[in-house]
Amino acid sequence: MTTASAIDNLRSRFQGELIVPGDQQYDTARKVFNAGIDRRPALIARCAGPRDVIQALEFAREENLPLAVRGTGHNVAGYAVCDDGLVIDLSPLKAIEVDPQSRTVHAEGGCTWGEVNDALQPYGLAATGGFVSITGVSGLTLGGGLGWLVRKHGLALDNLISAQVALADGRLVTASADQNEDLFWAIRGGGGNFGVVTSFVFQAHPVGTVLAGIVLHPAAAAPAAIRRWRDLEAGAPDESTQGALLFHFPDDPSAPEPLRGAPVAGLGGVYAGPPEDGEKLLRPLREYGPPLVDTFQPMPYNAAQRMADFLWPPGLQNYWKSSYLKTLSDAAIDVVVDFFARVPSKRTVIVLEHNGDSAWDRVPDSATAFGHRSWPYDFLVTSAWSDPQDAERNISWTRALFEAMRPYAAPGAYVNYLGGDEGVEGLEAAYGAKLARLAALKAKFDPGNLFRMNPNIAPSAVAAASA
Ligand SMILES: Cc1cc2nc3c(=O)[nH]c(=O)nc-3n(C[C@H](O)[C@H](O)[C@H](O)COP(=O)(O)OP(=O)(O)OC[C@H]3O[C@@H](n4cnc5c(N)ncnc54)[C@H](O)[C@@H]3O)c2cc1C
Repeated sequence: MTTASAIDNLRSRFQGELIVPGDQQYDTARKVFNAGIDRRPALIARCAGPRDVIQALEFAREENLPLAVRGTGHNVAGYAVCDDGLVIDLSPLKAIEVDPQSRTVHAEGGCTWGEVNDALQPYGLAATGGFVSITGVSGLTLGGGLGWLVRKHGLALDNLISAQVALADGRLVTASADQNEDLFWAIRGGGGNFGVVTSFVFQAHPVGTVLAGIVLHPAAAAPAAIRRWRDLEAGAPDESTQGALLFHFPDDPSAPEPLRGAPVAGLGGVYAGPPEDGEKLLRPLREYGPPLVDTFQPMPYNAAQRMADFLWPPGLQNYWKSSYLKTLSDAAIDVVVDFFARVPSKRTVIVLEHNGDSAWDRVPDSATAFGHRSWPYDFLVTSAWSDPQDAERNISWTRALFEAMRPYAAPGAYVNYLGGDEGVEGLEAAYGAKLARLAALKAKFDPGNLFRMNPNIAPSAVAAASA
């Protein structure tokens, strides 16, 4: 058991904030995005810089404490917080530097994608990021990073140039294409298994203004509307990243009557090319129906990154399930629409994402630890509800939908969309044949499995030299 004197000793050499049970900020500091996660760490170390991260790692090793690493705490499985252990909290690490000449951005480990793209926007640049602004740069990149530019510029990790990594043994190293190349391969998909990334350098792209928005149809029209979207996706250029969603419009008095609290199908996203080309491409989608609402308009990329934020507010109970799809058949569309008609919570969203036939699958499979680029679509069920007592029926519904989708699912999953209860099956679905190399690299960089609050890759018993 960690003593107060051990913590005081750490305090004497730690520049950031150390938070323990009983402190005023403790309950706020241990909260993550998913309100269903209620864990009580022994110590939360809010790091002021890489030196603090190294001090905290040493403390976890010396005190033999379970360790969790928090980027921004958005992972719904709750890996950013542990019971009775130490949380390395990177939230104060917010520095962002843009180099407009090389079109690169340096971002520290506690940044969100909204913050990074706000810094890039004045230069007419954008980083790939995610579909919402609030998620963490760290966790999202280390697992993959699907966002509104995925078809044009690939995943967040495809745009990673280098990372500064604090290793389990306390060394601070750079991982890039020419330094610690094996570590660089592993952290691009292998999540937080290999060390604490204190900062990232990303390639940014001239994006500036995009044509972005969504068309909404009544849920009753969803089967035909989603098919229409799916058919238009065939042959869509890389500039276009569009998805299909099933959700309930917010029950907000300011919403127009046919929409208020209503179940809807939403089809939309970003066209990151000349807006007039996007207008032409998306016209058939926008004219079809016609839709109840059409919000497409030219906007700055950092605004487009915020347009879906309202669908995933923090502070709800969450349970997620996801899989890649071999293809998006009519039968698969009918399954999700049928289940959505019986969804137990109005906060739940079903997402169909089309990533394929684009920059994302032109990256060779062997280039990174991230896999499954050959599957063109994925589906994601983000079940969310307020009252903890509703957990069972929401979780049962989500699992039943996942089972009903199995015939259409590809043998693979996106690690950042796992719900946390998949065990070895989830790990194999995420990494497949790459698991053996990852396990060997785990043995090289973290033989004692210090970093285990994640979809955990066990260090291989086989010599790390084979990695
Ligand atoms: C509302 C919402 C929207 C999302 N949208 C998208 C999306 O558009 N695209 C997408 O690809 N994914 C999306 N996700 C999933 C997202 O990628 C993961 O939840 C991701 O883990 C979030 O990153 P984070 O830094 O907040 O992670 P955290 O919850 O802080 O941590 C997650 C894992 O990463 C590890 N980790 C975090 N930071 C570091 C670090 N600096 N060094 C080493 N390990 C670290 C943690 O230890 C933990 O294992 C979304 C999630 C939510 C909740």
